[in-house]
Amino acid sequence: MAAASPIVSSVVTPGPRLTDSHGRVIHDLRVSITDRCNYRCVYCRTGEMGAQYPELGIEEYLRLIRLFVSLGIEKVRLTGGEPLLRRGLVELIQELAKMRTLANEPLDLAVTTNGHLLDTLAAPLKAAGLNRVTVSMDAVDAPTFERITRVPGSFEKVVGGIRAAREAGLTPLKINCVLLRGFNDGEIEGFARFAREENVVVRFIEFMPLEEGRLWTPEIVVPLAEIVERIGRAMPLKPLPPREASETARRYTFDDGVGEIGIIAPVSQAFCGACSRVRLTSDGKIRTCLFSQVEHDLYGHMRAGESDAELRTYIARTVQGKEARHHIGEPGFLKPSRSMVHIGG
Ligand code: SAM
Repeated sequence: MAAASPIVSSVVTPGPRLTDSHGRVIHDLRVSITDRCNYRCVYCRTGEMGAQYPELGIEEYLRLIRLFVSLGIEKVRLTGGEPLLRRGLVELIQELAKMRTLANEPLDLAVTTNGHLLDTLAAPLKAAGLNRVTVSMDAVDAPTFERITRVPGSFEKVVGGIRAAREAGLTPLKINCVLLRGFNDGEIEGFARFAREENVVVRFIEFMPLEEGRLWTPEIVVPLAEIVERIGRAMPLKPLPPREASETARRYTFDDGVGEIGIIAPVSQAFCGACSRVRLTSDGKIRTCLFSQVEHDLYGHMRAGESDAELRTYIARTVQGKEARHHIGEPGFLKPSRSMVHIGG
């Protein structure tokens, strides 16, 4: 799918801001740049090779992202699959770092990664203009971690990657941990200590029904209230005020103000009403919600030769139709046709 077109310009022609029919302003774009991954986390993948979707060329992602930025996107998060596997990532960041928002500010550029390749890539990514990374890490105990990733040696690589990212200045460094009862919920208190010792923000995420297999049940989800209660028993927590309405994490610090814990609770305390995000899959489809039942083939329109103005109209119309909320746990809930690794987390 990679086009032979030259790197597109970073000049952004402004259009109207993206909004949806529920009155939300959309300023956050998550872009999956591959759905390949070097980990096979038990709560995400089956362990089989499974489906793989095509990837666009770096220039194609740039053209599409530039259109979104011209419509008011201010934050771009690259994800996957594992985005650090994607050839051309450093060049992509270099080009994104040149773009300006409608307010003539640089984009807020972040990457979500499993951290396996950060030991060598943290410094080049920072030099290219990346602001922050979020590293996924589901245990602070090496054997538990490697039972989840199913990759021997992965714990040491990820801890090395986290330290390399901190040294490179990719801060504040956030660690995402998906909690599953019976798998890694014994790690909650250890993570609270890790946050303080490593000077990182640890964010616990409730497990959502987005896995390739059929692991999800309401009982396997460790809800926000239980996490707060368990940490609080060992180390009292103090809530921190939200920094913006669309913030997904409830934030807490400890009694002495050292360290931060966040809890992202899409299942027990959904935050859809303040959602400011849309997603672009690695094959160029717009997803207006993680749980969308339909995808919108932006790349198809681009390949058909539509102009920037036509593509902007298509994006704006698609985003208008963003779903009001997800329906996890309700009767008739349907999993989306793609799982997290293929949508882009
Ligand atoms: N490979 C990168 C990584 O590991 O961060 C980026 C892609 S991964 C799909 C993005 C994030 O989604 C990770 O933090 C992962 O733990 C999270 N995730 C995957 N499946 C999930 C699920 N069913 N519920 C909640 N979070 C999930």
